[in-house]
Order: sequence, then C-alpha cells, then structure tokens
Amino acid sequence: TQDPRKEGIASSIRVVPHVPKGGIMFQDITPLLLDPKVFKDTVDLFIERYTGKDISAVAGTKMCRALRILEEGIEARGFIFGPPIALAIGAKFIPLRKPRKLPGEVISEEYVLEYGRDCLEMHVGAVQQGEHVLVVDDLIATGGTLCAAISLLERAGAKVVECACVIELPELKGRERLKVTPLYVLVESH
Ligand code: AMP
Repeated sequence: TQDPRKEGIASSIRVVPHVPKGGIMFQDITPLLLDPKVFKDTVDLFIERYTGKDISAVAGTKMCRALRILEEGIEARGFIFGPPIALAIGAKFIPLRKPRKLPGEVISEEYVLEYGRDCLEMHVGAVQQGEHVLVVDDLIATGGTLCAAISLLERAGAKVVECACVIELPELKGRERLKVTPLYVLVESH
C-alpha cells in the first residue's frame, strides 16, 4: 500500500504544458513548497529512508538537460530538498554547481548533450575517499544530470549509494541510464 503522504505530494505538483517550449510538460514544485505540510512530508519521506544508513554526505544537483533555456531558474531547485535532508541525517551538504560559480579549486565533469555540452563542478576536498553520498534532485528526466553527478563524485573517490528525486518522468528512461546506482522517487509523472 502506498504511503498517503505521496498522494498529497503528487497533487501539489503543477504540470504546465509547453513550458519552456512546445512538447515539454513542466513539473512545477512551487505549489508543494507553498504548503508547509506537504513540503515537510516530502522531506520526511527521504529522512525516514536515509536515517541510520551510514550516509555522511548529501549532494545537490542543478542543471537541466532538456530545459537549458531555464538554466538559471532551475539551478536553485536542486538545492531545495538536499540541505534539510542532510541536516536531519547528520550529513554534510555538497553543492554541485554550474561552471564558474564556486570560488575555490574545482573538479569538473563535462557531459554531452543533444546540442552541445554541459558541466558540473564541485570543490576539491568536498568529499573524502570512500565517503557514502546520497545525490538529491527535484526531478529525473533523461538522467543526464544525475549521471554527471555520480561520475563527478566517484572520480573524487566517493561512493554514491543512491539517487533520490521527488519526481520521475519514467517515459524518458533516466532510471536505466543510472545503471548500478539505485534510484528512489516519491512520485511518477506521465
Ligand atoms: P535530466 O538531466 O534530463 O534528468 O533533467 C533533470 C533536471 O532538469 C532536473 O534538475 C530538473 O530540475 C530539470 N527538468 C528536466 N525536465 C523537467 C520537467 N519536465 N519539469 C521540470 N524540471 C525538469
């Protein structure tokens, strides 16, 4: 049986067709954030799953493969759910950011898109060798962003134990692209 909190979460996501461009069903999480009970339920579901699981770091992604046009707006959304989960489970939070946002020495992961390239960056020294990391984002579409996050963290010596997202768009098969890294999602959108 499904956790009843997930119904509240699903019904607080507003789907905006053809934004930012034709054919894309934009999944807007802002109504969820405006409802403190649903926002808390969302974070609690993750906290319940990851408490006591030997996770010492939570990494938040940004970036968007399909919606590059909204890049600036989207960047912040990956950082909404990660920090409260990190604090509750006693883990550090690692921001994974677009190029030239982090002031210190960085390690970067470039990845190929349909039209061009994108890049994620993390500060050198943010993770320790063998550290267990959870990667959190609001949504998985093609999985390109999460794949880049995983390879960046693993090149730095970390072990990504799972990826967690609020929403999965299963038709885009991002889950398959993650290969061996497990994916946990709260709701699917079709
Ligand atoms: P992807 O790398 O293709 O899995 O895309 C995931 C990233 O893009 C996430 O950070 C999302 O915030 C954003 N994104 C992709 N598709 C959508 C969509 N339909 N609605 C809202 N955000 C999206």
